[in-house]
Amino acid sequence: MDDDGSQSAAARTAAVVGAGPAGLYALAALLRSEAFDRVDVYEAAPAPYGLVRYGVAPDHPKTRNISRVLAQGLQQRQRVRFLGNVVVGSDLSVDELRAAYDTVIVSTGMLGDRRLGIPGEDLEGSLGASEMVAWYTGHPQARQLAFPDDLRSATVIGAGNVALDIARILAKDPATLRTTSMPRHVVDVLAASTLTDVHLVARRGPAQAKFTSPELHEMGALEGVDLVVHPDDLVLGPADEEAVANDRHSRVTVDVCREWSERPPAGAGRRIHLHFWRRPVRIEGTDRVTGIELETTRSGDRPTLRLPTELVVRAIGYHGTALEGLPFDEPSGTVPSQDGRVVVDGAVVPGVYVTGWLRRGPTGVIATNRGDANEVVASVVADAPTLPARRSDPEAVDRLLAEREVRVVSWDDWLRLEAHEKAAGDAAGGDPIVVHDLKTVIEVIEAAAG
Ligand SMILES: Cc1cc2nc3c(=O)[nH]c(=O)nc-3n(C[C@H](O)[C@H](O)[C@H](O)COP(=O)(O)OP(=O)(O)OC[C@H]3O[C@@H](n4cnc5c(N)ncnc54)[C@H](O)[C@@H]3O)c2cc1C
Repeated sequence: MDDDGSQSAAARTAAVVGAGPAGLYALAALLRSEAFDRVDVYEAAPAPYGLVRYGVAPDHPKTRNISRVLAQGLQQRQRVRFLGNVVVGSDLSVDELRAAYDTVIVSTGMLGDRRLGIPGEDLEGSLGASEMVAWYTGHPQARQLAFPDDLRSATVIGAGNVALDIARILAKDPATLRTTSMPRHVVDVLAASTLTDVHLVARRGPAQAKFTSPELHEMGALEGVDLVVHPDDLVLGPADEEAVANDRHSRVTVDVCREWSERPPAGAGRRIHLHFWRRPVRIEGTDRVTGIELETTRSGDRPTLRLPTELVVRAIGYHGTALEGLPFDEPSGTVPSQDGRVVVDGAVVPGVYVTGWLRRGPTGVIATNRGDANEVVASVVADAPTLPARRSDPEAVDRLLAEREVRVVSWDDWLRLEAHEKAAGDAAGGDPIVVHDLKTVIEVIEAAAG
């Protein structure tokens, strides 16, 4: 400790909670700043990278490869430790971390889904996107899904890329998924499904949809899939015309949808139907989903549409969950903050910061989290010399984890799992195959450690 009571840089420690893009960009910025001697990264999953591993679609390996960049901070072992399979909030509390580290940066993202608030939403066969995505990417906490034997039609609610990902994964030829990172039992369920029709439902029109162009073009090029767009849905009002005239993104989406609506059907085995200007008002069924009612959102327009459907996935946005020890704004699902400094009743909580989706909500692409994390770390670095002198003691947390018998997955453990996944992928002639269940993850790690 320095004479003035503040700590020297060499003694400062930080904990990052959540090893997704935001946490790992924050780690990189902390290391660049040289303001901290040591940074420990806590992660609930037994693997790093957050939604890059357990969100980005398995058939998008180039996007998933950003993990190589994110790994760079974790590889600096003299200053950084990875502690995977540690759930902050149950294995450890935020307060315990605050007691042990000078600075705590929370970047736990958003785990849940927003709800539609309509009857039938809790029926079997009605899911949130996060459940569906966790399943097909192999998240260890995912509920294992089984499709009904009579599955013919699935309905995906939403007009963003997550909705497109889910519609594409459901509709595409499962044989093409056998060279991806998708766990094989998931590919088997998709391959055995009798699904023929996927309906994508958007509350507004094509000019307002948030789909990005590469994803739209990819959908238009899916083999064995016809795209069905009703020309009436593409009639533009004055506000849409203006959007199309002024915004390239709107123009591209409208043009692509027009081209699809004019395509003669090829008689493919599967179809993706795009419904614009519709919102679900009821999910039908007694013990499981059998249909959905879609009301028009354009006045004086068409009657309510009733679709028979056995699966409904709402992809209308992720939503955060509160973490004990931190304030939480329920409507936005975020932790209140100023420049990343966590705020309770207008007062800054010293030494505690938030970044990523938990700070700003579920928006932007992976790279958006880099700017976000850089901003927050600028606050962290500015504050570091002013933090109250405290005896930094990360080993106290190690002792707690040992007492609580938490099986921490270290960076070396992760490298063992990664090598195993790569070998399995190589043997199948494809990408590394995600090991989805925690018991097997630990067995693989322990077998490799010898
Ligand atoms: C389905 C889906 C597909 C996407 N596809 C793309 C894409 O193709 N391209 C693109 O640019 N962006 C994509 N995104 C957006 C991108 O994934 C996000 O911008 C980014 O992951 C947000 O980063 P984050 O670090 O805030 O959250 P996350 O990535 O969610 O990371 C949070 C981390 O915190 C961990 N955590 C949570 N709770 C705890 C706890 N209590 N204790 C310890 N650890 C905890 C989680 O396990 C996770 O690892 C997609 C998002 C989704 C949902």
